[in-house]
Formats: sequence, C-alpha cells, structure tokens
Amino acid sequence: MARDYYGILGVDRNASDAEIKKAYRKLARKYHPDVNDTEEAAEKFNELSMAQEVLLDPEKRAIVDRGGDPMASGGGYGPGAGYGGGFGAGGGLGDIFEAFFGGAAGGSRGPRSRVQPGSDALLRMQITLEEAFAGAKKPVTIDTAIVCETCTGTGSKSKSKPDRCSNCGGTGEVQQVQRSFLGNVMTTATCQVCQGYGEVIPDPCDTCGGDGRVAAQRDVVVNVPAGIVDGMRIRMAGQGEVGHGGGPAGDLYVEVQQLPHPVFQREGDDLHFTVHVPMVDAALGTAFEVQDLGGEPIEITIPEGTQPAERVVIAERGMPHLRSQGKGDVIAHVDVTVPTNLDDRSRELLTQLRTHRSHEATAVSHADDGQDTLFGRIRRKFRR
Ligand SMILES: [Zn+2]
Ligand SMILES: [Zn+2]
Repeated sequence: MARDYYGILGVDRNASDAEIKKAYRKLARKYHPDVNDTEEAAEKFNELSMAQEVLLDPEKRAIVDRGGDPMASGGGYGPGAGYGGGFGAGGGLGDIFEAFFGGAAGGSRGPRSRVQPGSDALLRMQITLEEAFAGAKKPVTIDTAIVCETCTGTGSKSKSKPDRCSNCGGTGEVQQVQRSFLGNVMTTATCQVCQGYGEVIPDPCDTCGGDGRVAAQRDVVVNVPAGIVDGMRIRMAGQGEVGHGGGPAGDLYVEVQQLPHPVFQREGDDLHFTVHVPMVDAALGTAFEVQDLGGEPIEITIPEGTQPAERVVIAERGMPHLRSQGKGDVIAHVDVTVPTNLDDRSRELLTQLRTHRSHEATAVSHADDGQDTLFGRIRRKFRR
C-alpha cells in the first residue's frame, strides 16, 4: 500500500515546498533521538526524512498524487519508464557516480533502460559494547544520491525525450572486428557514446550532467537492537540511493563494528573478565562489586580457598540474546596475586603461617594438570 506522505508531515495536498520544509523541521526536532529515545521515534524520524524528500521532488510528488508510492521497492516506476530489458549493469557509468556505486560490472546485452532502480548502500558504524548491550538509536548523516531538482530526473535541460544513439543505433552496444593470429574476431562492447543506454540526451542538465541524480546528504536514525553482534547488518528499506534517471531508491545497510571494551570480552552472549585477587583474599574468601554494561552493580563472591584460574559465573548478567528472551552470563576469571616486596612484619606472619601449615608439601604432577585451556585463550585475547 502507498504511504501517506502528506499525512506523515501533517500538511495538506497543496502545501508549498516552504510549508513542507517547515513541517519537516518542526517534527524532526520532536523525534530526534537526542530528544526522544524510543524505537517509534527513530522510525518516525526516518519516515519524516523520506516524506520530505518525496514531496520536494516534483516527479515523485506527482506519483504520490496519482496514488502511487515512488519509494516502494520493485517495479512500476513512472508511466512508460519501466526498467525491463537487461539492467545487468553494462560497462560504463563513466562519471562521478561510479564512486558511489563502486564501479559497474562488465557484460551487457541490448540497451539498458535509462531509468534504473537505485543501488543499495552500505554504511559502517562503530558502536560500543554498552550500546550493543542496551540497544541504541544512532543519528548518522549518509552520503547518498537523490533526484536532480533541476531536471526532475530526466537528465535533460529542456526535459525533452532523449534521442536514439546514432553510434550504436539504439542497441547500446557496438560490434568490433579485431585481428588476431586466429583471424578476425568479432567482439561486442558497450557503446561509449551512450554508455549502453541506447539513447543520448542532446542537452544534458548542467546540474547532474545527464544522470538525473545528484549527490546529497540525508540524516537518518539507525535503530541498533540490544544484543547485536559485531559484523551484523541492519537493513533500512528505501534509504539507499535513488536510481539513474530517477529510479526508485535502494536499501541502506548499516554494518555494525563493535569497539573493544576495556574490561569485558564478549564470547557469544557471555562476557568474560579477569579479576586479580590477592593471595590472602583468595585463601580467606572475599566479595567485591563490578558494574555491568548497563551500569548496574554485580556482587561477586570469591569463596574461601579459591584457586588461580577458577571462574565465578554470574548468570544472566551478560549480553541480551538478540532473538530470544534472557541474557548470557558474566564470567570472572580469577587471577591470584602473590605479595611481593615483603616488609619484616609480613615475612614474619607468612613464616608463622608456613610453620603452622608444615603438613603441606610442594608436589609435582603431569604438565597438563590444572591447565584451563579456555581461560588461557581468553586471557591472551585480553592482553593483545
Ligand atoms: Zn539534472
Ligand atoms: Zn550508443
């Protein structure tokens, strides 16, 4: 179903550009994540950005007024435009947009439609472990491509229809005969005059150079779900670049890169850390407090007689599961520190203790005994 872009901004159907911009600014302030941190507000903010973009673009607005949705992904953009006929990207988007779309793949067959659906865009975003723990609404400004206002996407100064390319006769490709030691070889290449579109714009628009779109920036709010894992991608439908010739927008993918945390090491949804316990405290037992990633205190008890490399597991205080209820665990790895720089009093007390515990003797055993291999692996990661 077509979205109600007028309703989103709360303007009526004959609102001027100025009124649309004003309504957008007013609502965008209200739903900005700095002001309103809810998930609904983030969605609303993105909806507002899109509604403004659509209604300020005469061509897209005309589609809305006919009851269509110019930002809907997939077929049926504009009357008679259609992007059938091989849009398996041809050889040369030889302009600045190549930078946006990372170059085009080779190999074309027949002319491709000048109106192309927009490419998906990929954005990388760094988040802290605290943000992954609690979820976050992160405002970002993305570089994107929007419909050229000057030519409304036609690419032509006079907005006239493009001419058939005389170089390739409208097929979008040219045949070349190349001589080789096997004889003459026919090759097919994308027409350099029309770049494979089969048609040329006789009077290219000065603003966009005939591409029908221009580079622009757009503010969006990325909704980062609690429990998200490093490397995951968040899809934002219709927030990618608009297509060549004013085609509908692609999707925006936001790839999450998790920054290292000074204390916690994430393994699945468990959080590991090392606690350095003085020898005497390990022997007598002790308790201390750490803060979880939400800033809530966790009470950790080291029982009497705790050995080096032992673990203390605090259940359900780790990362929230992304797709189910509950949380992983927090796991404290005990490192026992032996006192150094002994003063006379300490030496005296320890000597007394040794005398008192003289039944305990140093013993030997196999090299593998008492080694916690997982612990060793995690600790190495910590220190890297
Ligand atoms: Zn233009
Ligand atoms: Zn051509």
